[in-house]
Amino acid sequence: NVDWALTRERYWGTPLPIWKDEDGHKLCIGSRADLSKYGKDIPADLDLHRPYVDDITLTCPQCRKDMKRVTDVIDVWFDSGSMPYSQHHYPFENKEIFDENYPADFICEAIDQTRGWFYTMLAISTLLYKKPSFKNVLVLGLINDEKGQKMSKSKGNVVKPWDILNKLGADALIWYFFTGVSPWLPKNFSEKAIDEVIRKFILTLWNTYSFFVIYAKIDKFNPHGHDLAIADREEIDRWIISELNRTVKEVDRLLEDFNVTESGRMIQDFVDMLSNWYVRRSRRRFWKSEEDKDKISAYLTLYECLVTITKLCAPYIPFLSEELYQNLVAGTGKGCQSVHLEDFPSADRTLIDEDLSFKMNTARKVVGLGRAVRNKINIKTRQPVQKVSIYFNGDKKATEAISHFESVILSELNAKEIEFAGELAELVSYDIKPNLAIVGKKYGPMIPGIKKALAESNSTQIALKVKNEKTIKLDIDGKILELEPGELLVEIKNREGIGVETDGEFTVGLPTGISKELVAEGFAREIVHHIQNLRKEAGFEIENTINTSIEAPAAQQETIEKFGAYISKETLTDSLGRDFGPGMFVKEIRVNGIDLKIGIKVTGSIV
Ligand SMILES: [Zn+2]
Repeated sequence: NVDWALTRERYWGTPLPIWKDEDGHKLCIGSRADLSKYGKDIPADLDLHRPYVDDITLTCPQCRKDMKRVTDVIDVWFDSGSMPYSQHHYPFENKEIFDENYPADFICEAIDQTRGWFYTMLAISTLLYKKPSFKNVLVLGLINDEKGQKMSKSKGNVVKPWDILNKLGADALIWYFFTGVSPWLPKNFSEKAIDEVIRKFILTLWNTYSFFVIYAKIDKFNPHGHDLAIADREEIDRWIISELNRTVKEVDRLLEDFNVTESGRMIQDFVDMLSNWYVRRSRRRFWKSEEDKDKISAYLTLYECLVTITKLCAPYIPFLSEELYQNLVAGTGKGCQSVHLEDFPSADRTLIDEDLSFKMNTARKVVGLGRAVRNKINIKTRQPVQKVSIYFNGDKKATEAISHFESVILSELNAKEIEFAGELAELVSYDIKPNLAIVGKKYGPMIPGIKKALAESNSTQIALKVKNEKTIKLDIDGKILELEPGELLVEIKNREGIGVETDGEFTVGLPTGISKELVAEGFAREIVHHIQNLRKEAGFEIENTINTSIEAPAAQQETIEKFGAYISKETLTDSLGRDFGPGMFVKEIRVNGIDLKIGIKVTGSIV
C-alpha cells in the first residue's frame, strides 16, 4: 500500500493535535492533561473542535515561545477506522464492553471499502494492538443495471430503491440479494428477478401459511391443546419433520460460515418441499370432517414446520416472518413479543431420519420424471394412465424405496401400477449411426455398407457394447469389420407407444395410449376439477355442502353416473342430478371437447 496521507486541508473534522512554533518545534498533544500541561488556563470543558481549539496557545517546552495549532484536520477515514474504540469511548470508559466485543466477529460493507473502511480499521488496530479489529469481512458486490452497466444519473439507468420497496416489498428485495448470487459478486439488478423471488419463494411460503390458517380457523385448532410425539405421527409427518431438522442443521452450519446464499437456498428448498409435496399430499387430511389422530398429526406437523421456518427466516425476511409469527405464535399468547426476540432454532438431530429421507427423495425423483413424461407426451395430470415403467440400474435400496412408496408414486402420477423394467431396452430404443467425422476418412466408400449393416443388426446390443467400450463387429457383404466404440454415435429414442424421461440414474416411462375406461375416469376427474372451480367462482365457503346438476350428452351422462359417488365425495355434493332448480349457480363448460352445463347450490355446511 502507499503511505496514508493522514491530514486534510478542511475545516470540519478531528483537528490535527499538533502545535508548532516559529522555530519549527512541534508538539503532539495526546490528552486534555497534555493541553493543560503546556497551556495556561485551559477550560476543563473546552470543546476540542475548531474554532475553539485553534484559539489555544501553548508554550514550547524547548524554547518557551508560543505555539499555534497547525490548521489541518485528520482524514475522516481515521475516525471511521477508530470506530471500534470511539463507539464505546474506550479507553476512557467501558473497558469490559470493549474487551468482550473486540475484535468484532464480522464487518460488512461493499467492495469499494477495501481501501476505505476495511483498510483504516486494520491500519489503526495494527498500530495500536498489532492485530486486526475484525475476524471476518463480508464484502458486498456492487449493483449494476439489468444489462450489467454501472447505474449512473447521467445514463438514466438508476433504479430508485423506494419504487422497488413500495412495489415489490423489502423482503422480496432482500431475499433476492441474499439468494440470487453470492453477495460478494456484482449483481445485475432486474425487477423480473424479484418477481421470480416473489413467485417462487415469498408466495409459496405465504400460501402454505394461508392454507394452515384457513383450516385451523374452520376447525378451531389449538396447537397447544394436543400432545402427539413425532414417533407416533404419520410417515409423511415424520419425513417433513426430518427434513425440517436437516434444514435447520444445515442453515445453522452455513450461517456459521457466513454463507447467506446457500443457507437461504436451503430454506427455499424446504419451503418448496413443504408446499409442493407435504401440504399437497396432506390436503385431504385437513379437509376431512372427523378430528382423528391423523388430522391432529397433520395440523401439529404443519404448525411446527411453519413456526420453525418463521424463526429461521427472521434474519432474512424480517417483515414477513414477523407477520407470520404474530399470528402463529404471539397471537396464541405463547412465545415472545416478536420473532426477532426469539432464539434461532436449533436442530434436533434425533428427528433426522436419513433412511426415510432417502426413500421419499427417491419417490420424488421418480414422480418428477413421470411428470416430465406427461408433459412430453401431452397427457393431462388428471387423465389416469395404466402403468409407470421404471428402469434403474443400481443399488437395491432405491428399488426398495420405490416399492415402499408405491401408492404415493401411483397417486402422484395418476397411474394404476408400477412395473420395473429389467432392461433399459424395454423402455427405449437406439438409433445408431457411424460417426462420420472419424469413420468417413477411414472407411470412405464402405459407409453405405456400414449404415446398411447397422440398420440390420440388434441396436440394443450395439448400444450396450458402445456403453461398455467394446469393439463392434459388423458383417459387410461377407467382410467382417471391427469398429471402435468411439466410431459410432448412439442416440436414445422413445419406443413406439411409450414416453420416457431419464436423469441418468432413473428412467421413467408412461404409455402414450389410454384405454376407454381410463378416458372415462379422466373425464370424471375433469368434472370434479370444474365443479371445484365453480364453487370458488360462486363464492361458496370451503366447508359448504352443495347440490350439483350436470347436463351432458348421453355417453358422458353414463360416465357421470358411473363415477357419481366419486364426484359427489370430492365436491361435497349431497345430491347429484340433472335438474337445474332456481337459485343455482350455472355455467356452461367445455370438458375434453364435450359441452356440459353444470349447476351448483349450497345446501349446508360440514361444520
Ligand atoms: Zn520552540
